[in-house]
Amino acid sequence: MKKFAFTLLLLLFVLVLPEHGHAAAGNKIYLDGQELTAGQDAPVENVKNSVMVPLRMIAENLGYKVDWDQKSKTVTIEQQGKTIKLIVDQTAASVDDKTVILTAAPVARAGTTLVPIRFVSEQFGLTVTWDNAQKTVNIITPETGGNNTGSEGSSGDGGSTVVVPPAESTSGLTMVNGISFSQNRLTIAMDGSSAPNITKMTGPDRIVVDLPNATFSDVFGSGQELDPNLNGKLAVTDYPDVSGVRYSLYSTSPYTVRFVIDLNTSKNYSLEVSGDASKLVVVDLNAQSTEDTTTQPGNNGRKLVVLDAGHGAKDSGAVGVTGKYEKNFNLAVVLKAAELLKQENKIDVVLTRSDDTFLELKDRAGMANKLKADLFISVHANSSGSSAASGTETYYQREASKELAKVMHKYLVKATGLSDRGVRYGNFHVIRETTMPAVLLEVGYLSNKGDESLLFSETLQNNVAASMVSGIKEYLGM
Ligand SMILES: [Zn+2]
Repeated sequence: MKKFAFTLLLLLFVLVLPEHGHAAAGNKIYLDGQELTAGQDAPVENVKNSVMVPLRMIAENLGYKVDWDQKSKTVTIEQQGKTIKLIVDQTAASVDDKTVILTAAPVARAGTTLVPIRFVSEQFGLTVTWDNAQKTVNIITPETGGNNTGSEGSSGDGGSTVVVPPAESTSGLTMVNGISFSQNRLTIAMDGSSAPNITKMTGPDRIVVDLPNATFSDVFGSGQELDPNLNGKLAVTDYPDVSGVRYSLYSTSPYTVRFVIDLNTSKNYSLEVSGDASKLVVVDLNAQSTEDTTTQPGNNGRKLVVLDAGHGAKDSGAVGVTGKYEKNFNLAVVLKAAELLKQENKIDVVLTRSDDTFLELKDRAGMANKLKADLFISVHANSSGSSAASGTETYYQREASKELAKVMHKYLVKATGLSDRGVRYGNFHVIRETTMPAVLLEVGYLSNKGDESLLFSETLQNNVAASMVSGIKEYLGM
């Protein structure tokens, strides 16, 4: 990248010296401490809290190869063998043929296209930080970061990235994070308060769910199929009444996400919406149908397990002796267990969180209750004032959960190899407020040096995940 850095500096001299910035009010952009100018043709804009810059600015200041195809309204940016394609007015973009979803779509402006500077820079390994007080974007290149006196950033190893601007101030659109179909229920997880419009249609039979003022979030495409036109489908097997579920960004003015449940036979449904800021929309096809009064709660003997990774985001949980966070351990184990459970054809699994997000305790329990889950298992790691405390505990709160606790604990202790601190009563919210057998696993003590290093080993995490599956299957009689 040395040559790249040199070219970059030359360009900076050519471009920065003669001109004062045209950056829009409040949004200035610095590259290694030098303010960038947007040029005469279009100003920098802030679109849905993404700072958008003219394409020319990317080409001229960052030295990337930029192409524009008028017909398909596609921008192609290339650098060092990596190719990004962005399409005007579409939040779906591609990075080396992998689809990613942008917070804000590129926009057409007189004579140019505005593209999100953070996304483009980070894709090419630059570090981007946002100074909220100064309203400036700081871009740091790996080579030159330490050499410029004006740089506020770290010397920049290209590693850490900071959200630009802060994530709290999002656009007001509801973000659809994920969907699942189990127990004859379509569940849509979203951040925001979009109220669904639901319609039953015939010829062919289907149920259409529209979420107004909504779009797909960045994480949606990683968990579910989503093509560059923001269409996708969910394969549904084992539910004789349902042939599949389709979804799409149906409209961008106004923004609407549409889900279609394709039916093999006419079905009635009930609709439930739960949660406050993070909502779940559940379309339940188990409602008694007028055409088909013999419908069973059509789960074909399948069981639904909700796995709950404790803590998340601002809530780190316990902090280990060497500074490791409990939230990361919990999530790693839950993701591994979910992978294993997905291979079981009689078990459906839903996660309260599948990434580093924050959830209230009541929303975790509420999710399991609304889904009428069969089991709820919360994963945690413990901490004690005494660094000597070590070992594995399993907690239950209600009598109905005691048997599950015993079974889970039996396998868990074997998996950790740590001292057996027993099956215990614990008055924890998530196992108290849930309505199905529910347990909370305290796998080990992060305040203990030996436990901490064990808990963050891949092998231990795999073993714990496998032990959870064994416990779940034994308890469910599978
Ligand atoms: Zn915890």
